[in-house]
Amino acid sequence: MQNQLSIFNTLTRTKEKFEPIHKGMVGVYVCGPTVYSDVHLGNCRTFISFDLIYRYLLHLGFKVRYVRNITDAGHLEGDRDEGDDKFAKKAKLEQLEPMEIVQKYTLGFHDVMREFNTLPPSIEPTATGHICEQIEMIKEIIANGYAYEIKGTVYFDVEKYNKEFPYGQLTNRKLEDLLEGTRELSGQDEKRGRLDFALWIAAKEETLMKWPSPWGWGFPGWHIECSAMSNKYLGETFDIHGGGMDLQATHHTNEIAQSQACNHKAPVKYWMHTNMLTVNGVRMSKTAGNGFLPGELFTGNHPLLEKGYSPMAVRFFMMQTHYRSTLDFSNEALQASEKGYARLITSIKTIDNLKTSAASTSNIKELEKACYAAMNDDFNAPILVASLFEGARIINSVNDNKETITAEDLALLKKLMHSFVFDVLGLKSETSNSSADKALQGAMEVILEIRKDIKAKKDYAASDKLRDDLNKHNIQIKDTKDGPVWSVSE
Ligand code: AMP
Ligand code: ZN
Repeated sequence: MQNQLSIFNTLTRTKEKFEPIHKGMVGVYVCGPTVYSDVHLGNCRTFISFDLIYRYLLHLGFKVRYVRNITDAGHLEGDRDEGDDKFAKKAKLEQLEPMEIVQKYTLGFHDVMREFNTLPPSIEPTATGHICEQIEMIKEIIANGYAYEIKGTVYFDVEKYNKEFPYGQLTNRKLEDLLEGTRELSGQDEKRGRLDFALWIAAKEETLMKWPSPWGWGFPGWHIECSAMSNKYLGETFDIHGGGMDLQATHHTNEIAQSQACNHKAPVKYWMHTNMLTVNGVRMSKTAGNGFLPGELFTGNHPLLEKGYSPMAVRFFMMQTHYRSTLDFSNEALQASEKGYARLITSIKTIDNLKTSAASTSNIKELEKACYAAMNDDFNAPILVASLFEGARIINSVNDNKETITAEDLALLKKLMHSFVFDVLGLKSETSNSSADKALQGAMEVILEIRKDIKAKKDYAASDKLRDDLNKHNIQIKDTKDGPVWSVSE
């Protein structure tokens, strides 16, 4: 192992050496999307943050089992087991089967993740594919005395659980405080305790997605799927569990309770929560109506956007803020990221042209140490980016003959820039390498040569016609001080 990883533990806030629980494999579970609608940029921030963590663990040489689920059932509109089923509601609205809704938005989610160059998880389990596992877990929790059934619905008994385990540990809150913030039970409530939550929910006549169970036809509560699937694929205890900060107080708190009540063990060593993407200080969300879609961002087709931004510029924008800090969306920040991203990629392309010397003016080994130190300190990508900009500065200075570099240092710098920019930050060069693009590139070089000849003969009418004809095919030519450049408009 190249480096020892220390992770800042968000639960205990202590630094310690990172040792995988199961020797030779790091287990990571991240709560995935609820696939009843398109993912917005806020959701993407969370998944891109965990992609960075996954990539860095792989870069360090760990074998990682990265499980990111798809929530495709059991998600009611209210956090407290009330309201309509989100999938059934959307299915009615779009006049589709609930599983058509699931398929449509799962495919859309995969497309977006691919655009952002995120690595696919090792396993992507679905809630509907693990109903048996969830039922088995609920049976075990009932047998252990932490859950009860009323009219086909099974509730988790929070107050009983809290007598033995600190229920609010993840947010450092006592049960009394949590009770105070929860509304009193009404005559219509079946559950015994105000904080009790459903593990299994009895189906109504009209419920579309339902399964048979020991308690009759019903469907799982939202939280049990993650306990059942993480337990199945990563074991009773595993290393890292992640999700957005908004999942901490309810979903993850309940996951701990379920797993502990079932297996008599705390399920997770490190809880990692990403902070929210905000727009003018307000959390981006489906309900707030400020959640623009990645597609809108790429085309610029949204009132909040001054123009379109490429997926890699957006990814780089996200890398420039630590995952635990809020990130406020702004056109200025994205435009700065666009430039920063271009600066890094251009410098990497320049590396191969550099001349080497007998001595180096910069300390590349120190730069390498700084990159690892940043990422080993709770995956501090913004600090890493600062070091990579320093790398880009050195490359440009050597290229301008203002600094020198040895062959050995140049090889190290090249490896460093490639591995951190491409493998760890997950950026890629956006110039396409397809054979069609290469052919277009070649054809344009030929055309620009012909145009040069026409201009040399002062045949301006022919040169204008050439420009206008290319324009009809969305190709623009601009004359700059460095010669003509061409681009394709959307
Ligand atoms: P959902 O599809 O609503 O279950 O959300 C998927 C993931 O996105 C969860 O981990 C959420 O915590 C996360 N998420 C939701 N809104 C935001 C936001 N504005 N910024 C960052 N992450 C978010
Ligand atoms: Zn979850």
